Amino acid sequence: MSAQRKITSSHLERLAVVYVRQSTLAQVRENIRSTERQYALADEAARLGWARERVVIVDSDLGVSGRDAQARSGFKELVGRVCCGEVGAIFGLEVSRLARSSADLQRLLELCALTDTLIVDADGIYDLHSFNDRLLLGLKGTMSEAELHILASRLQGAKRAAAERGALRFPLPVGYVFDEDGATIVDPDEEVEAAVADLFGAFAQTGSAYGVVGAFEGRRFPKRAYGGAWAGELRWGRLTHSRVIGVLSNPAYAGAYVFGRFRSRRVVQPDGTITTKTSELPRAEWPVVIRDHHPGYITWEAYLANEQRLAANNTQHGARPPREGRALCQGIVRCGGCGRSMSTIHRADQNPSYDCSRSRADHVQTAGCRSVSTSVVDELVARGLLQAIAPEEVALALAAADEVAERRTRSSRALELRVERARYEAARAERAFHQCDPDNRLVARSLETRWEGKLRELQETEAELAEQSAPAPEPAREQIEALARDLPALWAADSTSEKDRKRLLRALVSDVTLTSDPHGPELRVGIRWRSGAAEEHTIGRPKRPAEARRTPTAAVELIARLGPERTDEQLAAELQAAGLRTGSGLPFDARAVRWVRHVHRIPSPPFLHDGELTVVEVAERLGVSVGVVYYWIGHGQLDARRGPANRLCIPFPPEVEKACRERVANSVHIPIRVKIATAGGAV
Ligand SMILES: [Zn+2]
Repeated sequence: MSAQRKITSSHLERLAVVYVRQSTLAQVRENIRSTERQYALADEAARLGWARERVVIVDSDLGVSGRDAQARSGFKELVGRVCCGEVGAIFGLEVSRLARSSADLQRLLELCALTDTLIVDADGIYDLHSFNDRLLLGLKGTMSEAELHILASRLQGAKRAAAERGALRFPLPVGYVFDEDGATIVDPDEEVEAAVADLFGAFAQTGSAYGVVGAFEGRRFPKRAYGGAWAGELRWGRLTHSRVIGVLSNPAYAGAYVFGRFRSRRVVQPDGTITTKTSELPRAEWPVVIRDHHPGYITWEAYLANEQRLAANNTQHGARPPREGRALCQGIVRCGGCGRSMSTIHRADQNPSYDCSRSRADHVQTAGCRSVSTSVVDELVARGLLQAIAPEEVALALAAADEVAERRTRSSRALELRVERARYEAARAERAFHQCDPDNRLVARSLETRWEGKLRELQETEAELAEQSAPAPEPAREQIEALARDLPALWAADSTSEKDRKRLLRALVSDVTLTSDPHGPELRVGIRWRSGAAEEHTIGRPKRPAEARRTPTAAVELIARLGPERTDEQLAAELQAAGLRTGSGLPFDARAVRWVRHVHRIPSPPFLHDGELTVVEVAERLGVSVGVVYYWIGHGQLDARRGPANRLCIPFPPEVEKACRERVANSVHIPIRVKIATAGGAV
């Protein structure tokens, strides 16, 4: 009765809010009783004196975990209404159910105290103004949090203990199933087993996850469904890149039982929302690893090797796997000037080159950081490689040939298995059809359709198998043997891809360092072998196109020595007599000599005799335009001779000058113009 006295008319005038919550959808489904009891609180509110229309049920948080308030819109609504002072009492089955985090609960209780809101649960009525009630509620909240913690840790502990024995069961990856005793065994379905085994085979073959996807083109790959309508069933579909990565990085296929490979943690986003992130732990931090727990598709060593290979393929983390381009040393070539790795540049109009572009990007380039055409380097490295490969290595090439044949068998084996399955399914459909009561037409008809469908499927698969079994062109073993004996030919063969050449190179060579002489044409090529040996070769850098076409120094020297006294024609004759040629390899002529003079600023011999002037000089002296002078020469009124390079030389003694001046003074019909540049004005 004393509890009821806490309810005043002020409370009854406001709302009674019933807050209904179940953490998970499973709880919602299974704890119907509890949900019903929560809804029944509305009746309790009416019994305590609230009018029916003042009772509000907030149930939008059903199936939402109480661990954080962010996701729960119902809880937010509740807090909002309390803040507005609309609420007289909050009804909940337990106070702890209002909020699972004590921070959220404390905040709500504080707000309730400020707005004089009562809390009602199955145990009683709490007035937040009363110290005892506040203490009790705080304690209940703390207890519930402790309870959650203890429950979780007990569960985790039990789980961990089972995992340490390798007995904790979790969904198996495709290719494995549990037997009747709960042990992990390889899937007895041979088609599934073959598909998984072939995935690993294809990775060993192609060396990349994309390669595996390519190898499975047109072939199905199994997938086991977890949860949902297809739970536990095997579905067949296309093999994707991400699935390949998933299978290759799953230690279960190496026969290991691993627990705790992934860790999920809750993170606060910049906008304050809380999300759960799952990340893979490094192998050293996996809590439980039991090797040889079940039969593996590959060995643990192969698993580790695959992992390394995948990492080496990952260009996002700085790895530089062999690519398709022509540059042989791509990815393993370093600059001797700054020590950085050099990038390969492919241009449409030029040979590819190794370029120290990173040093330029970082502004740390040295004088030796240069670009080198790939052709010279690659030729040298390839020659070294072919010399280094001992005849024993040929055996490797033969093993590779066997692998090709084996792969062919594997893929036709997969088809055979599919045909077998189709045959079995057709037979089963036929049996079902015959067993059915013929009078039951509806069922008989659908069974017949099903049987027909299965037969069609069988036919299609058989046709596919027949196509696959047809003899395909494949190099004969003798042919490969002959090729292997002559490795240089194999290396140069068109059928050898650039990628394969690079792989072979990387198998033996760890890196190549290019050191350019900053001032000369010398290039030092250092090759470091995987065996630890190192060697260095010095070669001449190939000339750049402009350099290659430069005039030979001897010719330039001759022109510089004789140039001031000889005409261009004379020089050309001299150069030809000396057997010198231009940069392009052509014999010298006057034009070529004139170009060299221009580039190297070599003066020409004076071409005017004593007392001679050029056309321009005559025009300037008389104050007429050059056109007038040319007119006089053209009409025989002024003598001139042709000098070197066809330039006009005019003998200009005083009597000729006098005659000209008179002609200018008397002239009426020849237009006289003062040369603009010399007289500084126009007429
Ligand atoms: Zn460099």
